Amino acid sequence: MKHFTSSGDAAVTVPRSGVGTGGDGPVATTSLPAAAAAPATVRNPDTTADVIIVGAGPAGSTAAVYLARAGVDVLLLEKSTFPRDKVCGDGLTPRGVKQVLALGIDVSGDDWLRNRGLRVVGGGRTIELPWPTLQDFPDYGLVRPRRDFDQMLADLAVKAGARRHEGTRVTDPVRDERTGHIVGVRATTEDGPVTFHAPLVLAADGVSARLAVGMGVQKRPDRPLGVAVRRYYTSATRTHDDHLESHLELWDRTDPARPKLLPGYGWIFGMGDGTVNVGLGMLNSSKAFGRTDYRQLLRTWLDGTPEEWGLREAHAAGPIGGAGLPMGFNRTPHYRDGLLLLGDAGGAVNPFNGEGIAYAMESASLAAESVLQALGRPDGASREAALAGYAAAMQEHLGAYYRLGGMFSTLIGRPAIMKAATRLGLPRRRLMYLVLKLLAGLYDSRDGDWADRVVRMLTSAVPSV
Ligand SMILES: Cc1cc2nc3c(=O)[nH]c(=O)nc-3n(C[C@H](O)[C@H](O)[C@H](O)COP(=O)(O)OP(=O)(O)OC[C@H]3O[C@@H](n4cnc5c(N)ncnc54)[C@H](O)[C@@H]3O)c2cc1C
Repeated sequence: MKHFTSSGDAAVTVPRSGVGTGGDGPVATTSLPAAAAAPATVRNPDTTADVIIVGAGPAGSTAAVYLARAGVDVLLLEKSTFPRDKVCGDGLTPRGVKQVLALGIDVSGDDWLRNRGLRVVGGGRTIELPWPTLQDFPDYGLVRPRRDFDQMLADLAVKAGARRHEGTRVTDPVRDERTGHIVGVRATTEDGPVTFHAPLVLAADGVSARLAVGMGVQKRPDRPLGVAVRRYYTSATRTHDDHLESHLELWDRTDPARPKLLPGYGWIFGMGDGTVNVGLGMLNSSKAFGRTDYRQLLRTWLDGTPEEWGLREAHAAGPIGGAGLPMGFNRTPHYRDGLLLLGDAGGAVNPFNGEGIAYAMESASLAAESVLQALGRPDGASREAALAGYAAAMQEHLGAYYRLGGMFSTLIGRPAIMKAATRLGLPRRRLMYLVLKLLAGLYDSRDGDWADRVVRMLTSAVPSV
């Protein structure tokens, strides 16, 4: 790809060294911008690129696919080695499916388990809500273990031409002393420390957001935060499920005569391979947040579920894993000084439902658009404006919806409000149709029915920043 250099000189053309494993993407020559950071003479093609992406989760790999397909020389740096696990519920709503389809991925195979709606359990009721028919999203969801899903995406990035370095833990940004802009990253590898250079860096390193922290982009205390734990169990009765199951109430049935309501919300997702993914989450608006043994809470809840589901210690298919859920854009700005924040690193988890994969991939798509525009402009004000456009696009895309989600998460942190909402809402199908669209972000951005219009009206009533 032909890019402007920082000095405005013609770009140098060097052969791509292609250290990504098994790639069949374009290995021909590629032009690199003359170094923004390093001396303009010799550049090491193994450690320099047009763009560095830190983290090969859904955000990083998706951005790498889009950029590499457009001919950008991308270094994708990942601290683990594939296949690797990621603590997650493994569920994709239609919003996530849309992003998978946008990459041209075939989801017809047995690797994917399809679902046709959400089953909600609470207030002594169970209701099934089909995914809505919409212009903007498909009408089915998917389940696939992150161990496979993330590897598949990271391989797609390599296939598109990205150079993936695994076992490469990024420790710090490298900054241009004069401008303060990030111009590379320092990393540790099995072979010792390595410094990589690029004029643009995408932070897709997940909830730790190490790179953003290194650049001084702090967490926002005014935005919601969650924590979630999950475990796999073998379960013949629950593994095949055509719905994602959500539990609005968790009960401690140690004393069956006196069940006690526990804090948090749970899920049971059949994996279709003999196992289920079961977990629970809690928001920081709950009194119990930070004062709870989440692993014990999971065991207590599951011990009270029907024996035949098999959600007991003896059927556990692995340890309990947990992680934070950075929600509602709890780290901004999404662009500053050459660094773009994607996915969890930018706090992009939906505060209404804790879903993060779809939004990580959406942020990647928006970031890739801005990066392509930026790389096509000479270094300077116009390039900066293109990059600032990413932060603006994120706000426009999700800012107001996430502000609304923040208000929602504050309200449901109060047990009395949650109890009333569950008891009043669940029996009313029309209301639940609206609630599903709102909570899962599954509404049309134009046209649509009454519920789409109500959600659009609600989001237009709150500020996006
Ligand atoms: C228990 C739980 C259940 C969840 N369930 C769901 C669900 O069912 N559906 C859903 O949509 N979302 C779910 N989420 C949220 C979802 O997992 C995240 O939002 C999503 O993974 C974000 O993707 P990402 O690419 O931004 O970050 P990640 O998936 O976290 O990827 C970050 C990558 O960066 C790498 N990395 C980190 N630090 C460095 C470093 N210093 N150097 C190099 N590489 C680094 C990591 O190894 C990782 O590969 C759940 C989260 C939790 C905790």
